[in-house]
Amino acid sequence: MARTLFEKIWDRHVIAHGSGGDALLWIDRHYVHEGSFHAFNALAASGRGVRRAQNVFAFDDHYVPTTGREHGVAGVADAEARELIENLARNTARFGIRHFHIDDARQGIVHVAAPELGLTLPGLVINCGDSHTSTHGAVGAFAFGIGASQVKQVLATQCLWQRKPQTMRISIDGTLPASVCAKDVILAIIAQIGIGGAQGHVIEYAGPVVRAASLEARMTICNMSIEAGARAGLIAPDDTTYEWLAGRPYAPAGGTWDQSLAYWKTLPSDADARFDREVRIDATTLEPMVTWGTNPEEGAPVSRAVPDPASVTDPLRRARMESSLRYMDLAPETPLASIRIDRVFIGSCTNGRLSDLRAAAAIARGRTAVVPAIVSPGSRAVKAAAEAEGIDRVFLDAGFEWRDAGCSMCVGMNGDQVGPGERSASTSNRNFEGRQGKGARTHLMGPAMAAAAAITGRITDVRTL
Ligand code: SF4
Repeated sequence: MARTLFEKIWDRHVIAHGSGGDALLWIDRHYVHEGSFHAFNALAASGRGVRRAQNVFAFDDHYVPTTGREHGVAGVADAEARELIENLARNTARFGIRHFHIDDARQGIVHVAAPELGLTLPGLVINCGDSHTSTHGAVGAFAFGIGASQVKQVLATQCLWQRKPQTMRISIDGTLPASVCAKDVILAIIAQIGIGGAQGHVIEYAGPVVRAASLEARMTICNMSIEAGARAGLIAPDDTTYEWLAGRPYAPAGGTWDQSLAYWKTLPSDADARFDREVRIDATTLEPMVTWGTNPEEGAPVSRAVPDPASVTDPLRRARMESSLRYMDLAPETPLASIRIDRVFIGSCTNGRLSDLRAAAAIARGRTAVVPAIVSPGSRAVKAAAEAEGIDRVFLDAGFEWRDAGCSMCVGMNGDQVGPGERSASTSNRNFEGRQGKGARTHLMGPAMAAAAAITGRITDVRTL
C-alpha cells in the first residue's frame, strides 16, 4: 500500500497498539533543556532512572544570558536562571546524559544545535519538551514537542504513547520572488490556513519551492508548523539533506552512512500516497510578510495596511482582531510599512542560523541602526562561522549588538526582554501578548526585514532598500 513519509516513519516505530487506538512509539532521540527540570524531579520522586541515556542529549538554551558568557555559569546574574542551568548539569551528570552546557563550543538553541551536530537524522522519531521540536522535521524526521509528564515517560522508558495524527500536504508551487524568504512562506501559509488550520495533522511540505530550498530554509518552515496547530511538520529528505548532513559529528560515517543513505532514500512519500488534506500555495504571489496582531495568523504582506475588523463578518473573528489591535495599539488601515518600532531582535530557532544572519547583514552593511538591535546567533557554532565571515563586524559597525547564543528575546527568560508598551521587530515565531515581556508588542518578520526595521526605525519593505 502506498504510504506517506510520515506513515513510513510511524510504522517503523510502533512497538505496540493500545486498546484505545493509541500506539506505543520508540523514540530515537530525546532532547532536554533547562526547562525539563519538572520531568527530572518527577523521575526522582518516582524512584526511576533514565532508560537509555545514550539516546538523550541536553542543551542549555532558554535561560542562558547572551552577554558575559566568558564568566560561565558563575556569571549568570539571575539566581533562578543560574539554578536551572546548574540543575540540568546535575541531572545530566547523574544519569550520564551528554550535555552541551553553557560553556561548550557546541552549545546553542536545541533546535539549531542538534541538527548542526548531526543528531537529527532522516527517519528518526524525535521528542523534546518544547513546541518548536517540529524544526527537526526539515531533514525528514517525525519530531514533536511533548509536555513535562511525557518527558518523564520518555526518560524512564524511551517510549511514548501517541494517537496517530492525520496527514496533510502543503505544496508550495512556483518560484519565490526576490526578497521573499522561508519566513515569509510560513507566515503566508499560517495567514491562509489559520492557527488551527493543521490541528491534528502532520504537515508534509512539498513542491518546487521546498525542493529548491536550503536545509536551513526548510528548518524555518518546519519550525512554525506548530503555529498552524500541526503536531509536526516534515520534508522528504533529498540530496540537499544528504549533503548538509554528511560529515557532521554525530551523523553516520563510512559503511554506516551508506546503509543509512540507502534507507533514507526509501523514505519520501510514494507517488500515489494519499493525504487526508491537501493545500496548495502559489509562491509567485508572495511578498515579505509581517504580523500586525497577537498570533502568527494575524499577518499580511508588508505592502498592505492593518486590516479593519469592521470588514469581517464573523463576530468571533472580529472580536479577536479588535482585541489584538487594542493590545498592539494599532488603528485599522494604518500602512504596515509606517509603523514605528522601538527595538529589533534577530535570532531564535526560527531565524538564528548562518543564512539568516547573512541575509540580515546584507541589509545592515554600510548602514546604521537607529533603534536598539540585538543579534543572537542560534548556536555558538553559528556565531563562530559568522565571525569567520566578518558578519559580526558588519553588525557592530552598523550599531547592532552582537550577542552570544540562546533563546534570548524570543521568550525573554534570560532577561532579554521588550519593555512594557515597546514595539519590537522580531525574527522569532510567537507574537503572543506578553511573551517577550509584560506589555511587549512584537511584529514577526524575516531576518532581512528585521534588519531593515533597525535601519529605518519603522517596519520597512526590504525591497525598497
Ligand atoms: S528560540 Fe524561542 S521558540 Fe525556539 S526553543 Fe527557544 S524559546 Fe522556544
